[in-house]
Amino acid sequence: MPDNTEPAALIRALDAVGVDFSIPEPVLRDFLGNAEFTPYPALSAGLLKLLESRMLRRPVFLDVIVFNYEHSPGEPSPRRIEDVDFGVLEGAVLEGFNNRYAEQNVSFQTVLKPLDAPQPPVQTLALVVEGTKKVENGITLVDTDNPRIEVGTKLISVPAQPNNVTVPQEIVRIGNGWRFTNGDVELSVSNGEAEAGLRPIRAGSLSEGANAWPTTVGTFSGATGADVRLQARIRVGYRPVDVKLLVHGRKGFAANTAEKARIALDPDVLLVPIEVARFFSDAIPVQQISAASQMALWDQVPIMSPTTNLKSTDGGTGELQFAERAWDHWPVPDNEGLYTHLGWVSPDSIWGKAGIRFRLVNYIDIKTDNEHAAPGPAPGVVTNATLRANNATLNDHPQHIKDKPVVKVIFMHRIAPPDAPQIGEALVGSSCIGISAGASDRFATIAHEIGHLITGSGSHSTELNNVMNDPGPGTNITDAQIALARTWAKQFADFWVH
Ligand SMILES: [Zn+2]
Repeated sequence: MPDNTEPAALIRALDAVGVDFSIPEPVLRDFLGNAEFTPYPALSAGLLKLLESRMLRRPVFLDVIVFNYEHSPGEPSPRRIEDVDFGVLEGAVLEGFNNRYAEQNVSFQTVLKPLDAPQPPVQTLALVVEGTKKVENGITLVDTDNPRIEVGTKLISVPAQPNNVTVPQEIVRIGNGWRFTNGDVELSVSNGEAEAGLRPIRAGSLSEGANAWPTTVGTFSGATGADVRLQARIRVGYRPVDVKLLVHGRKGFAANTAEKARIALDPDVLLVPIEVARFFSDAIPVQQISAASQMALWDQVPIMSPTTNLKSTDGGTGELQFAERAWDHWPVPDNEGLYTHLGWVSPDSIWGKAGIRFRLVNYIDIKTDNEHAAPGPAPGVVTNATLRANNATLNDHPQHIKDKPVVKVIFMHRIAPPDAPQIGEALVGSSCIGISAGASDRFATIAHEIGHLITGSGSHSTELNNVMNDPGPGTNITDAQIALARTWAKQFADFWVH
């Protein structure tokens, strides 16, 4: 039996039998988690029992059902499933159904249909998690906060309305695009820090779900019971997340009895919070820098193509016909295991060797004048004066994270006057680095500047291919640099405490 007592799991279980909601999801989760003061847990459990092996033929809002139930004669508001009157509950559902679809059904049976869950239940064939170090107490501990997850499943045929014919699920992948016919699939991510209420709560800091797509190009069909391997990328923190493959039928999720995986960041890994600010002007837009591209750079979060991301539903039955998507960017490590984006080596790929991972927790667009997006010639003036001014502006910005230490990364078109050599610069002591987004020589620049914050100095390494080499930083770090980096990164531990 799946555990249906957690709010997120309850919402999925209700969705699978045709019960959705019209109030904000966080509010619903609060209600579902509060059996003492709301009837939501009792009535949800009652609905799952009432609809066992059946489902509503069109969705009805849970909050409307609860309202109807509580406004029935005697104004009942049960706190335990034992107190639920199933006759009253049927009436509450029927009334919600009729109101929503302007129908006049008089019998509860007429708003039902057989459960649209694929049978047999979807199997999870195997699960592979990138960066796995060990499994402890059922929790897979990983050395990266952004693992790629690979999971296998078997495609089947599912019932389709209006005539309840059976149609095969099918996935076709071409390049970085794919189409799932007669269903959809995703990786659900629950119980993680995104639900913890406090940090990290910044937008985009953690995923609650991820699109899954085939690991190889080809056509996979339920007509032949094809096994298909699917992959997704998620973000994890120190608190374990529950990861589960959810395969949709044409209506709702399939019953999935597969064990969920519990994944957490290894506590030995030190997570460093990153705040990115883009300083741009009308004339100097500092292109390429965006929240999505920074998510990809720091956290290997893939970028969905805005033009290819659609779901098609049948106008008559409301059933899902197909989902079609494509990635603009899907992160893949190179031959040396380095992730790069826009020509920059992901700082994780270098400092990860020290057990340090960076996570984007804040992104701010700051409109400024041309001089502060790309300083002009300034003879006799300190070359980092404009970067320092931008750092001061960022410190005063209302969206800047002030209450906990973060590493600030300022992108400008050019951080110093045209005749200055800098394409990156660390403001040691200010926990800030500046990066010239207009420079073409990118490679390990960001990791190099972070290295200056780590060492607390402007000095360089003469070792070839060391990240602190100048000019031309490489990707190696020494044992001494690892020790320094780990000491430095511990100052951010408090950011993740909640
Ligand atoms: Zn340097």
